[in-house]
Amino acid sequence: MPKSDHPYIQLSEICRQNQATLVAVSKTRSIEEMDELYQMGQRVFAENKPQELIKKAPIMPSDIQWHLIGHLQTNKVKSILPFVTCIQSLDRENLWEKIQEEAVKSSQTISCLLQIKIASEETKFGWSFAELTEALASGKHLSFPNVQLEGVMGMASFTADEGQVRAEMKQLKMYFDQLKQTYFSFNPEFKTISMGMSGDYKIALEEGSNMIRVGSLLFS
Ligand SMILES: *Cc1c(COP(=O)(O)O)cnc(C)c1O
Repeated sequence: MPKSDHPYIQLSEICRQNQATLVAVSKTRSIEEMDELYQMGQRVFAENKPQELIKKAPIMPSDIQWHLIGHLQTNKVKSILPFVTCIQSLDRENLWEKIQEEAVKSSQTISCLLQIKIASEETKFGWSFAELTEALASGKHLSFPNVQLEGVMGMASFTADEGQVRAEMKQLKMYFDQLKQTYFSFNPEFKTISMGMSGDYKIALEEGSNMIRVGSLLFS
C-alpha cells in the first residue's frame, strides 16, 4: 500500500528543506509502530525513559540512533551508555559529572545537549541560563572531555498562546547563540538547537530550530 500520505513523508520533507533533523519520539509506542517508521527510512528515535530505551534498543535494528530526552537519574547513566547516541536531557551538574565518569570507564565519548529551562511551568526540567553559564565559566566542559556538548534542548510551555511559545523559543535561540559565541566558537560540533514538538514544530523551525522531536503527530 502506498504510504505517501503518511505524516512521516511530509515531516521528513519539511525537515529536509529546513536542514533540520527529525527525531521520532517513540515513547510508549510498540516495536511494530516503530518498525513502520523505520521501514520508511527513519533512523533517529527518542525515548524519555531510560528503561524503555534499554528494552527497545537491543531488539531494533542496530543502525538506529537513540536519543534520551527525559529526566535521567545518575544511577541509570551506566545502563544506558551502551545504547544511547545522544543524551538531550543534560540538565544539571551532578549528571554531567556522572556521565563523564561512566563514559571514561567504558572508553566512550557521549554526545549531549544542554537542556535549558525556557517554559514558565514549574515542572519542566533544565538549567537556568545563569546556572549554566556559571558552570561553563568554571571550565566544566573542558574538564569533561568524554561528554561532547553538541548544543541545547528546550521545551516551550504547553499553552495555546503562540506568542508565548514563540518568545520562549526565541529565548532558547538567543541562549544558544550566546553560548556558541562565548564558549564554543572553536567547536564545530556545538551546533544543535533541539526545539519543537508535534504542536509547535512549525514555530520552532521559524525560530531557528535544527532538530525537532515529534511523537504524537508521527504515530497517529
Ligand atoms: C513526548 C516528548 C516530545 C514529543 O511530544 P509530541 O507532542 O508527542 O510530539 C518531545 N520532547 C520531549 C522532551 C518529550 O517528552
